[in-house]
Amino acid sequence: MQVFDHPEFDHHEQIVFGCDEASGLRAIIAIHDTRRGPALGGLRIYPYASEDDALTDVLRLSRGMTYKSALADLPLGGGKAVIIADPRLDKTPELLRAMGRLVDSLGGRYITAEDSGTSEADMRLIRQETRHVSGLGRAGESGDPSPYTAHGVFCALRSAVRHRLGRNDLLGLRVAIQGVGHVGAHLARELHANGAQLVLTDLDRDALGILVDEVGAVTVSPQAIFDAEVDVFAPCALGAVLTADVADRLKARVVCGAANNQLATPEIAERLHARGILYAPDYVANAGGVIDVEWQRRSDYSHAAVMAHVERISATIDEIFTRAHREDTHPAQVADRLARERLDG
Ligand code: NAD
Repeated sequence: MQVFDHPEFDHHEQIVFGCDEASGLRAIIAIHDTRRGPALGGLRIYPYASEDDALTDVLRLSRGMTYKSALADLPLGGGKAVIIADPRLDKTPELLRAMGRLVDSLGGRYITAEDSGTSEADMRLIRQETRHVSGLGRAGESGDPSPYTAHGVFCALRSAVRHRLGRNDLLGLRVAIQGVGHVGAHLARELHANGAQLVLTDLDRDALGILVDEVGAVTVSPQAIFDAEVDVFAPCALGAVLTADVADRLKARVVCGAANNQLATPEIAERLHARGILYAPDYVANAGGVIDVEWQRRSDYSHAAVMAHVERISATIDEIFTRAHREDTHPAQVADRLARERLDG
């Protein structure tokens, strides 16, 4: 396995491989950049097919966190951690505590939080070994950042609609949401409250059923969501959903959702641009969660302060769309450049 010559290696400051024989822990922590502050990023537990797949994921995701925090104006760098294990079968208190000790050994250069395969309860176990954990919630409140992520996506979506479709309201706007889990369901409710018409899909029919009645939506099969006759496509399920085939099929003029790493390959951004589809860069639109997680570490936390910070996503994404339009390029390229400017400046 190559590390320094790995295609996703991007001058990461530190990559730590951690192992604990007793609990079976096999983990990688990647610290991409700490120039703006400690490297914060979630802990993912996933049964990767190979160590190389795990390394690819952690290298890419940690770099994404650096860019996300820089553009969300947070005093944080970018990091990420992965455990090679099946969260349904292998996740034990011993495994999580061993991970906590690994995080602690970095002395606060890396701060962990929830991600796919981990929960708030898991973070409490990790907290027994290290204080470098966020997303545990404040007294009596949930630490679930999903409502803030959804609100940030909503702000980005409104901005994208204004830029691409020239309208300020969402009344009758047709939006297809792929995945109505934690973030997608909140987004659906907020769009519905603002008059949008929704087309929803999810692999989980039960989750879909309850929500459909609540927001008066139409449902389609997971395969049909890309062909829906809508104005906006909101990917809120998986990464790498925007493939060449999907980019060519979409009827929507705007893509704006919560999923991380939506572009299957970087070239897809160009393909969407060529078709006149405005793509809201994922790590800009979905920064509401990390904004909340950072505020949870502060003593002056308040819902209003987090909301105000999340709503600044609108101004950032406006700037990205304006620059992209002026330069006749796609917003993903402008977002990366803006993030690098903030890191260097
Ligand atoms: P979640 O697991 O709660 O919801 C995802 C939903 O997508 C599930 O209901 C699942 O059944 C559905 N799904 C999976 N594959 C599907 C498919 N092929 N077609 C249709 N539906 C499918 O996850 P979440 O917390 O809502 O996060 C959604 C996405 O947003 C993820 O990519 C996540 O990484 C990203 N994200 C989440 C947050 C957050 O605050 N939760 C923050 C930033 C980014």
